[in-house]
Amino acid sequence: MRAFAHDVFDYPLPAGHRFPLDKYRLVREAADRLPGLAVENAAAAPLEALARTHTADWLTRIRDGRLQHREELALGLPWSPELVVRATRATGATIQAAHAALEDGVAMNLGGGTHHAFADAGRGFCVFNDVVTALRTLRVEGRLQRVLVVDLDVHQGDGTHALLAPDADAFTCSINGFRNYPFRRVPGDLEADLADGTGDDAYLEILARLLPEALRRARPELAFYLAGADPYEGDRLGRLSLTKAGLRERDGVVRDLLRASGVPVCVTLAGGYAEDILDTVAINVATIESFVDAEA
Ligand SMILES: [Zn+2]
Repeated sequence: MRAFAHDVFDYPLPAGHRFPLDKYRLVREAADRLPGLAVENAAAAPLEALARTHTADWLTRIRDGRLQHREELALGLPWSPELVVRATRATGATIQAAHAALEDGVAMNLGGGTHHAFADAGRGFCVFNDVVTALRTLRVEGRLQRVLVVDLDVHQGDGTHALLAPDADAFTCSINGFRNYPFRRVPGDLEADLADGTGDDAYLEILARLLPEALRRARPELAFYLAGADPYEGDRLGRLSLTKAGLRERDGVVRDLLRASGVPVCVTLAGGYAEDILDTVAINVATIESFVDAEA
């Protein structure tokens, strides 16, 4: 399996910032040791690709660091030139992984899943919307038309929903924590909102019901899977109570249902904010292992 990484494109964060920047390096180091996985550094998303998703105003102002204070607060990350380089590479990784998925059946971005980015704004640690940029790029290249986004990050993908709302050939399916960010929701095509403390059994039952319906309705040529680690019981932001074993089972359900339907999948890792960063890393690495096996 091919995987694309952006951990080497570092950016400055104040000490104690809640965004787990080290996670990406630790996941990359573990991925480099996994048999059957070829990891390479992502290429930057071209400006013309980003312009398929974002307004010229947002692209110019984020490049030049001309954000209003409230915009920087909503983004949740301090602006720097390096942050923009990183976001451009993270989006490029999803474009490359989507191409590789069409060729190989499965491929991965060792990050990405920046689903809170809107056309004209970055929010919630998301500068650019990688999935929407990738799917529009593949369409322009004539590779596909119909896509399914399976978003199992605990937070609702409001930016992705807004961008894809008018798109009849893109279908979103997500399972969210009800009382979690974002507090102003943008409806997706098929969603479940779970109460605080929901555990493995209830979660997996809902997934087993939702995903087959999503596949029937979407009839996708490619799926994007946001394998967020933040439904984990030890997550600081998640509010749900899935175990590591439950999350592994979740990944297996997604892998097996997509495979049985003959749908290639581009996996992104999305969020994860465990008390102990090594828990998030372990969950991400388990996701990678699940999909490395899928290719065999
Ligand atoms: Zn999240």
